[in-house]
Amino acid sequence: ENSKFSKLLAINEKTKEFYHHILINTKVGEAAYQYLLDRGVEKETIEEFQLGFSPPQRNALKLYLDNQEGLDNTLLSETGLFSDREDRQLLDRFSGRIIFPIRDHKGQTVAFSGRIFEGDNSETTPGFHSAKYVNSPETDLFNKRKILFNYDKARPIIRREGEVYLFEGFMDVISSWQAGIRNGIASMGTSLTHEQIQQMDRVTDKVVIAYDGDQAGLEATKRATEYFTDQTHFTIEITSFPEKLDPDDYIKSRGKEAYKDFLLHGRDTLMSFLMKYYRNGKNLKNESERLSYIEQVLKKMTTVNSPVERELYFNQLAQEFKVTQDTLKEQFQQHAFENQ
Ligand code: ATP
Ligand code: MN
Ligand code: MN
Ligand code: MN
Repeated sequence: ENSKFSKLLAINEKTKEFYHHILINTKVGEAAYQYLLDRGVEKETIEEFQLGFSPPQRNALKLYLDNQEGLDNTLLSETGLFSDREDRQLLDRFSGRIIFPIRDHKGQTVAFSGRIFEGDNSETTPGFHSAKYVNSPETDLFNKRKILFNYDKARPIIRREGEVYLFEGFMDVISSWQAGIRNGIASMGTSLTHEQIQQMDRVTDKVVIAYDGDQAGLEATKRATEYFTDQTHFTIEITSFPEKLDPDDYIKSRGKEAYKDFLLHGRDTLMSFLMKYYRNGKNLKNESERLSYIEQVLKKMTTVNSPVERELYFNQLAQEFKVTQDTLKEQFQQHAFENQ
C-alpha cells in the first residue's frame, strides 16, 4: 500500500507540472494566465504556488498521463482527478479551470482545487459543474479535514511571528503572501475542523481570524472563535474587513501597505468582536434590546481572564449606557457565579 501511496503522489506531481505548463507556456492557457495577471497575481507568485490551468478538452490529462509508465485506469481513478461518468472514460474533473495545487504538511501535492474564470466558455459544455471552486474528492492522499492550505510553507513563519493568520480562501492566502504576509493559511472551504485546529496548536497559541467581511464571513468567524475557545487556549484576534471586502479584495483596492497596516492595527480582541457581533441587528435605542445586549456582554465577559481587560469593558459599557460600574460588576458577579 505504501507503493500505491507513492504512485498516487507521483501522478499528482506529474499532473501539477502538466497544468502549470499549460498555464505558463501554451496558447490554451493564455486567457487563464491573463485572468490571474488581471487579478494582480504576479508571475513569481504563480511559480511559488505552482498555479496551473486544465485544458477545456476533457481527455487532455488522461492522454498526457497515458504517456507515463505503469498507470492503469484503476489507479488513475483513485487519484480523484477524473470524474468517470460517460463510457467509463476518465474525464478531467477540473477541465477549463484554474488550478490550485493543495499540499500537505510535508509539501506533497495531495489534491487540487479548480476555479472557473471569466472568459471561460465551460457553461456551454455538457456536464459543466457551475460551482466557483471544485476540490478533489477524498482520496488515500487527501483527507480534507486535516489539510490547511499553505500550512507547510507558513509553518516556520508562524513559529517565528508567534501567530497564524486564518483566511477563508486560497486567493486570500496567495495575495497576502504576495504582500509579504507569509504566516497565512486557509481551511478548505468548509468550517474549521478539530484536526485543523490541532495542527495550528502545535506551532502557535495565537490566531488572527481574517475571514471575509461579508455576512457569511462574519458568521463563520463567530463559529471559528467558538471552536478555538472550546478546544484550545489560543489568544484570538479578529480583523473585520470593511465593505464586505475579503483580504484579497482589500489588497487589490487599497494596496499592500494599507493592507498590512490594517492587519496589524485594525484588529479587535475577541470580546470587542463579539460586542460588535451582538449589536448587529439590534436597536440599542430600544430598552429591552439594550438590556439584552448588556446581559450578553456581561455573560461573555466571564470568559475574559484579564482583570484589566474586563475593567476596560466595564468602563465602555458604563459610559455608553450610563450605568454605574458598580451595578455592572454586581450583575457580572451573578453570571460568574452561575458559571461556576
Ligand atoms: P475568489 O476571490 O477567487 O472569487 P474567494 O476565496 O473569495 O474566491 P469565497 O466565495 O469567499 O471565494 O469562498 C472562500 C473559499 O471557500 C474559497 O477559496 C474556496 O476554498 C471555498 N469555496 C468557495 N466556493 C466553493 C464551492 N462552490 N465549492 C467548494 N469550495 C468553495
Ligand atoms: Mn467568502
Ligand atoms: Mn472571499
Ligand atoms: Mn475573493
